Formats: sequence, C-alpha cells, structure tokens
Amino acid sequence: MDGIGIVDSIWEGYATDQTVRLNAASGGIITGSLIALLESSHIDGAVVNVADLTFPPRGKSILAKTREEIMQSAKSIYCQTEINRGLSIAKSDSTVKSIAVVGLPCQITRLKGIMKHHEWMQEKIVVTFGVMCGHNMYPSATIKALAVSGINIEDVAKVSYRGRGWYPFYYIVEMKDGSTKEFLWPGSPLQAIWNSLDYQSSDCQTCPDFTAEDADIACCDAWLEKHRGTQEGYSMVLTHTETGTAVIEHLIKIDALTLKPSSVEDLYSTNYMQIDRKLKIKKEQRK
Ligand SMILES: Cc1cc2nc3c(=O)[nH]c(=O)nc-3n(C[C@H](O)[C@H](O)[C@H](O)COP(=O)(O)OP(=O)(O)OC[C@H]3O[C@@H](n4cnc5c(N)ncnc54)[C@H](O)[C@@H]3O)c2cc1C
Ligand code: SF4
Repeated sequence: MDGIGIVDSIWEGYATDQTVRLNAASGGIITGSLIALLESSHIDGAVVNVADLTFPPRGKSILAKTREEIMQSAKSIYCQTEINRGLSIAKSDSTVKSIAVVGLPCQITRLKGIMKHHEWMQEKIVVTFGVMCGHNMYPSATIKALAVSGINIEDVAKVSYRGRGWYPFYYIVEMKDGSTKEFLWPGSPLQAIWNSLDYQSSDCQTCPDFTAEDADIACCDAWLEKHRGTQEGYSMVLTHTETGTAVIEHLIKIDALTLKPSSVEDLYSTNYMQIDRKLKIKKEQRK
C-alpha cells in the first residue's frame, strides 16, 4: 500500500507484562520492548521523552538507563518535543555502548539524516522506534484547553495526555496543590483543539509521514472495531527493516511481547484518515 513506507512485517498485540501495558499509551509495545532489551543487555539505555516538569505542556528527552526511567517515559505527549538532549547525553556517556532511540517520524527522519555524519551514532544506535503520528500541537494548545476547563497552567504540576484507559482514554492534570483533574478525551476541550488546525505547525500540516518510514519499528493504536470499549491497550506494530523484524521476533520469543501477525488492511482500518490525508500530501509533494 502506498503511503506507509517499506513494510517488512505487521503485528497486533501488547506488552506481556500487564503493569507495562496498563501504564502505556496503547499496548505498551515501546516501553515493554525497551525494558526487555535493557534487561537482556541488548541496549545500555534508550533516548525517550518524559514530561518536562518545568513546563508541563511539553516533553523533554532523557537517556533512560533503568527500568524505572523507561517506565516514566511511557505514554504519549501531545505537545512538541525533542530528542537531541537525550542524544547528547548518550554521546558523552562512555559507559553507554548501545542505545535505542524513540521518536516521532520527523525526529527519526532527521536522526537518520545526521547519523550519516556521526560515527558515534552509527556505533551506538542499534534500533529506532517510531511513534506513528497524525500531527502534534504547540504548547499553547494545552494551555488554552486547560483554560477552557478553568485551569491556569501556572497551577499545574504535570499533564498526562494519555493518563488512564485506552478506548476511550482520559487525560489527567496533576495540580501543584496535590489534587488531580481527569477528562475523558472524546468531547473534551483538548480534543476540540487537537482537531483544529490552529495549534499545529506548518510542518505538521504538510507532513507526509504517518508510519515513521525511516524507523526500524513503528507503533500506533490498534483502533479496531473489535477493541472498542477496551480499557487494556492494543498496538499495531510495523517493521520497516530486517533489523526491526529481528528485534520484534526476539521479543516475542522471550515473551516480552504478545503479538500475532496482522495485515496492511488492519493497519489501514486503525488510522485510515491519517494515512489517506498524508498520502494526499505525499502525492502533492511528488508533483
Ligand atoms: C504527537 C503524537 C501523535 C500521535 N498520533 C497518532 C495517531 O494519529 N494514530 C495512532 O494510532 N497513534 C498515534 N500516536 C501514537 C500512540 O499515541 C502511541 O504513542 C503508540 O501507539 C505507542 O504506544 P505504546 O503503548 O507502544 O507506547 P508507550 O509504551 O506508552 O511508549 C511511548 C513512547 O513514545 C515516546 N513519546 C511519547 N510522546 C512523544 C513525543 N511527543 N515525541 C517523541 N517521543 C514521544 C515516549 O518516550 C515513549 O518511549 C501519536 C503519538 C504522539 C506522541
Ligand atoms: S505530523 Fe509529522 S512533523 Fe508533525 S510531529 Fe508528527 S511526524 Fe512530526
């Protein structure tokens, strides 16, 4: 199928460890994979994003070197992020020989571009995970949505965009006074803003890549009709390279991931609006 890049294999499922699965955005595939790769010494760390507690709408990248740090990075951050901070730490940490990198499709494409010029990256980065992406938002989107709900960003300690549940999910706002506020995503102020173009960068509006085509492994929500109403997440897992397939097959074998083969048709069913929209952009850009 045009618009999803080179496809080596497609699966559907979740992280076998239920603690990982329930703490994740979708099926916990990324977190479950990173923990298993770390604990089996295939990697010494992973560049991942965590909530930036100095500015709650945003994420910031870290080099996670423990199970706890990887667990903290689970869940999606629906706000602009970066991966350079984590990469810089990985570069200067001589105890770290092998890393995984997790990023949005645009971040992975940029990484693959600069990797050609940096020997240390070619040596250390053994696998990349792409978070399939429809679009992202400026921090002002979160600030505006919380204001609509009567919440001043100055009073917020942390925003968990995929705080709880899966189909549907809730976002959770932790306040500095210790209280929390929870919002069902469908019909919420944040969803209304997410669906508008007003808080998207021009890069997102013209982005042709949904499936993180340059990543070894890419994950998205398995929003299939059969899973509607399910609170335990399911993911679609797509590999673009033989490295990605070998990693996933190893993780299935050691029972870190519970996956069954899926199809391009199922992937399309989960995100047909995003795939069609981005294919249209891609075709425009090819002209
Ligand atoms: C901005 C954005 C848009 C998305 N759009 C779609 C969509 O349209 N359709 C769809 O099916 N899925 C979309 N996803 C992907 C989905 O939300 C899950 O991230 C994906 O299914 C992986 O789930 P998981 O349970 O395996 O990940 P988890 O185990 O929860 O791990 C998530 C990983 O993603 C990383 N991460 C989270 N947010 C960011 C970020 N903003 N930038 C860089 N890295 C990040 C974390 O560091 C962590 O390693 C989007 C995610 C994001 C962040
Ligand atoms: S839509 Fe494209 S440019 Fe925007 S965050 Fe996602 S991958 Fe990056």
